[in-house]
Amino acid sequence: MPNYTTHNPLAWIEESLSELNKKGLQRKLSVRGGGQAGQIELDGKSLVNFGSNDYLGMASDQRLSDAVVESLAGWGSGASPLISGHAAAHQELENRLAQFEGTEAALLFTSGFAANTATIAALVGPGDVVFTDRKNHASLFDGCRLSRADVRAYPHCDHQKLDRLIGRAADYRRRLIVTDSIFSMDGDTAPLVELADVARRHDAMLMVDEAHATGVFGSSGRGLCEQLGVEDGVHIRVGTLSKALGSVGGFVVGSHSLVDWLVNRARPYIYSTASPAAVAAAGIAALDIIRDEPHRREKLLHRAAHLRDTLTALGWNTGNSTTQIVPIIVGDAERTVTLSANLRQAGFFIPAIRPPTVPDGEACLRISLSFAHNDEQIASLIEMLERLQ
Ligand SMILES: *Cc1c(COP(=O)(O)O)cnc(C)c1O
Repeated sequence: MPNYTTHNPLAWIEESLSELNKKGLQRKLSVRGGGQAGQIELDGKSLVNFGSNDYLGMASDQRLSDAVVESLAGWGSGASPLISGHAAAHQELENRLAQFEGTEAALLFTSGFAANTATIAALVGPGDVVFTDRKNHASLFDGCRLSRADVRAYPHCDHQKLDRLIGRAADYRRRLIVTDSIFSMDGDTAPLVELADVARRHDAMLMVDEAHATGVFGSSGRGLCEQLGVEDGVHIRVGTLSKALGSVGGFVVGSHSLVDWLVNRARPYIYSTASPAAVAAAGIAALDIIRDEPHRREKLLHRAAHLRDTLTALGWNTGNSTTQIVPIIVGDAERTVTLSANLRQAGFFIPAIRPPTVPDGEACLRISLSFAHNDEQIASLIEMLERLQ
């Protein structure tokens, strides 16, 4: 036997990690013991949780757990959807999603990340061009790269610049515009009405990722497209069950032909095992709650407006946030980490967001609100931030 221990081709990893560590950029996992929205236990310490995407407090709702337990008839799906993994509960959830979103059809993915990469790569390829907002989610960027289409990143929310760029792209076979509706780190919103107009004038497809808006915005909770009345101008809508809906999984809604095409061409759909049918049962229960309890989203958005106004009055910079995601833009990464640590010491979990998640010099504390918080928790956060200012 040769001696395999004499050289270590992975030595570069240790060097790279220690470089990250020196710059204060190495990330470490915390272990969540219990709790969810509202109060969470991290590494054995109970904290008020401003760091989850459980916007409506549904991740720990008993009705989702009950739906899972009641539906359990074995666990695994055994195969990808096209082979034999697509269960009656998946079909029912897709029907319910299409009904909820007011579209012809819906398609489930194991995650929102998979839905985004799969869909972009199925819609465009070599000879096509895709336009992506510079602050789009990583999964949209990865989808662009995977597609092998030409990629043009346009300045954040700059629909006029996009209009000029796409005006020079008439020779491409297909044009696709992709954007988050609510941006994950800044909590601001895309100019969807203007983007739909650009798409219409330039014969482009428009794809909107509603990950942070599903369940939160719009009069029936479909998202920002519903809120802005622009659903008919958006050809591909992506949502997730993983955030406000308290479960896991992504979905795409649109026309029958869009969904049929994805079933035939979306590789993460075709070559990956379907999620357990019980996960779909939780999704159905979540849609019932979204329909029956609109006060959750109303209260959440009301609370977010109050927090933004109060923090701004205290002199903190919340950027362009107009949603339940309220960043405090600090700038310097080290100061942001120190603030986050001080807050944690005082019993508040508010993650520090640093490069490469945000550009250099734009480090922030990301406060993510939930219906599950109570008024005292918000008041004590404000008090603490007043003291730290
Ligand atoms: C979280 C997120 C996703 C991924 O969704 P998952 O279901 O968590 O995989 C996609 N897009 C945006 C904008 C997100 O914030």
